[in-house]
Amino acid sequence: MKFQCGHILIFILFLTVVTYTQQIKLYGTLSPGNLIIGKVNNANVVMLDNKTLDIDTSGIFIFGFDRDAKGTYTLKVIFNNNKSVIKKIKLKKRKYKIQRINKMKQALVTPPKNALKKIKQESKMMRKARSKVGILKVPHFTQGFLMPVNDEKITGVFGSQRILNGIPKSPHNGIDLSVPKGTPVKAASGGKILIAGNKFYYNGNFVLIDHGFGLTTVYLHFNRLNVKTGQMVKKGDIIGYVGATGRATGPHLHWGAKWFNKRIDPMSLLKLKIPDIKTVITNPSADG
Ligand SMILES: [Zn+2]
Repeated sequence: MKFQCGHILIFILFLTVVTYTQQIKLYGTLSPGNLIIGKVNNANVVMLDNKTLDIDTSGIFIFGFDRDAKGTYTLKVIFNNNKSVIKKIKLKKRKYKIQRINKMKQALVTPPKNALKKIKQESKMMRKARSKVGILKVPHFTQGFLMPVNDEKITGVFGSQRILNGIPKSPHNGIDLSVPKGTPVKAASGGKILIAGNKFYYNGNFVLIDHGFGLTTVYLHFNRLNVKTGQMVKKGDIIGYVGATGRATGPHLHWGAKWFNKRIDPMSLLKLKIPDIKTVITNPSADG
């Protein structure tokens, strides 16, 4: 009898441990410039420091660490039974390359005075589009991610400190994929086109996609666009064709990603394993 009871006790303990460890799962690398996908069961609230995160019906949430993020972050999960679990995340350090570009047209490094008005107008349009980030509560990113072009050569990595014609500029917030002009560019995941911009001074013809829960990706320097602002896309839909419009020295795709205003390495999206998600997006053409 005693022997059997012992077995039952061990079995119950085992069950408890399994249930507990299944409560918070994180996918991704806990270092600057990375997006993390998390999954919780039976939770009401997930917070990263003071920010409450969106959770979908299957318990999926995301968060990201900026290029320059450092230190320790606190992830707090409050479960349906009011029990809460706190997970401390200590970020690993990350080093970035220094990239020197010397062939850039001087007008694109330091814009001429007559371009300043246009640049100002464009950044206002961009801010307006970006102000909508976070409104989309459908986790379209659960479709997973793909590389937006085929047969690409990576000519610029994320986060590198750029020195254009000898002048230090802001870091490179994306990756440069060298491919021939006219190469079709696919949406890395599903979402809503927040802005399909034409002839911007720096971006050229470009597309910004909202994948939900604050995650966006941006695609710059198109020769030609294939989508319009407000349109919904699925992962793999052609959004435009590679060009060299805006601040570009030759045909390539600049691909960037952000979680809200946090700069994310798009390569980190491709490495993410999307957990067994049961989210059903019933009406992908619906607004919001
Ligand atoms: Zn670039």
